Amino acid sequence: MSMCNTLLSRILKLNRSFSHKNVKNTSLIQTSNFSTRELLKEAYCRTKLKCRSKKLPQDVNPRGVFACNELDLSEVKVYGFDYDYTLAHYKPSLEHLLYNLGRDMLLDKYKYPSEISKLEYKPDFAVRGLHYDIEKGLLLKLDSFLQIQFGAVYRGLTPVAPEEVLKIYRNRIIPIAYVEGDTRVHKANRSKMVHLADLFSVPEMGLMCNVAEYFIRNQIDYHPEILFLDVKNSVQSCHPIMHKIVAKNVEEYIRPNSDLKKYFQLLQECDKKLFLVTNSPYHFVNAGMEMLVGSDWREFFDVVIVNANKPKFFTEVSRPIRVFDKNANTHIWEKVTSLEKGIIYYEGTVKQLQDLTGWSGHQVLYFGDHPYSDLADVTLEHGWRTGAIINELTHEINTLNTQTFKENANWLQMLTQLIEDHQEYKEPEALAVIGEWMAERDYLRNSTKSVFNPQFGSVFRTYHNPTYFSRRLFRFADIYTSNIRNLLNYSLTHTFYPRRGVMPHEYGSYFV
Ligand SMILES: [Mg+2]
Repeated sequence: MSMCNTLLSRILKLNRSFSHKNVKNTSLIQTSNFSTRELLKEAYCRTKLKCRSKKLPQDVNPRGVFACNELDLSEVKVYGFDYDYTLAHYKPSLEHLLYNLGRDMLLDKYKYPSEISKLEYKPDFAVRGLHYDIEKGLLLKLDSFLQIQFGAVYRGLTPVAPEEVLKIYRNRIIPIAYVEGDTRVHKANRSKMVHLADLFSVPEMGLMCNVAEYFIRNQIDYHPEILFLDVKNSVQSCHPIMHKIVAKNVEEYIRPNSDLKKYFQLLQECDKKLFLVTNSPYHFVNAGMEMLVGSDWREFFDVVIVNANKPKFFTEVSRPIRVFDKNANTHIWEKVTSLEKGIIYYEGTVKQLQDLTGWSGHQVLYFGDHPYSDLADVTLEHGWRTGAIINELTHEINTLNTQTFKENANWLQMLTQLIEDHQEYKEPEALAVIGEWMAERDYLRNSTKSVFNPQFGSVFRTYHNPTYFSRRLFRFADIYTSNIRNLLNYSLTHTFYPRRGVMPHEYGSYFV
């Protein structure tokens, strides 16, 4: 900054001498006395000083509830919940367990090379919301415009350089049919990318990248789609084993949450109806809920449905709901004509749930962690209100709240505007200065990305744009927060109002 201060004081002194001589041109910068290089440096210094003079934004509450859509809780009569990662938050030990079980399955069932047994889980490698290209074998992050985030493309554990990425895809933007499949033709073309929006998929990505890296380093030819399917099937077929291990030792895998019971009590005292719809089996959910809420947890719920098989539960119409005999650990072949408290139900559809209870539309608020299988269909097809529980928000908001991040994010915005305003200078000395600004902007873009995750950055942003994951989340969730317990900070008649966002054509502020 001392260079800035020296240059600025020289300019101000010269300017004052011009004004004493009644020079008509009151422009601060007397261009004839300065080289282009000095003018650009002066503009840089002035912008930097302006940035430093601004107050940094206030911290965001990591326990806040954030609104995408207006939601008046006084209209909500029925509260529904998913279980995994919505009510039960897992410790990192669960990711390690799933990784190890999946790795063993790759060896035992799929006969992968025995050296793979030595590959350890890297817990901070991947984040939720990435895409895996099953044709090209790349794990990458897309933004809401389907643009690739350069620097967030990996083959195995190795980053792929932007030049190579451009050679592979020929463009920074991926065609929508490639990402999502082509639904305009009768026979839908299969998409070439898989969106990994489930928290259970994080250890799967870790295993896939570790094995791919091993294959690449040992020059073993592999098919990316087969690797993807083998890993996916291995990890997912281990879920029943994982359920048994976790149910036997819940404290080792589930984070305690004493506020959960308080929240259920509040809802019950205010005559709200509660239901649980989970894809997990009864014995696993019961063990977790007994630890989290107590052995009387079923008393809080008017309807409990296990093995629901979402998203089919929300999309299919002809799958009968059945009674689950928790003692015999099997379902009973009797037609269900009413839903009773204390009984555990199995499979079924949302249509039956709505027909048998009369609960429908905006009086239902359903909480889940998965933007598709929990939230998309209930909001699009059934008009339920939705709340997303996004565990990663705690880390993301704590990172946003650091002074260094705030300073870097503000300066990045102002520096970018400075570059845009001075791009018409074409002399070599100007291009050299602007080149320095561009390098500084690249550095800031990378440092504001890597503080969230060194490989893939924030779950919510790709530099300035929202991620593909965020777009889905904001489309399907009325509100979102890091944990159900945060709702205890709001009354049951609270209205959540979304913030008025700034559109590109509207007046902006550097610090919103
Ligand atoms: Mg879940």
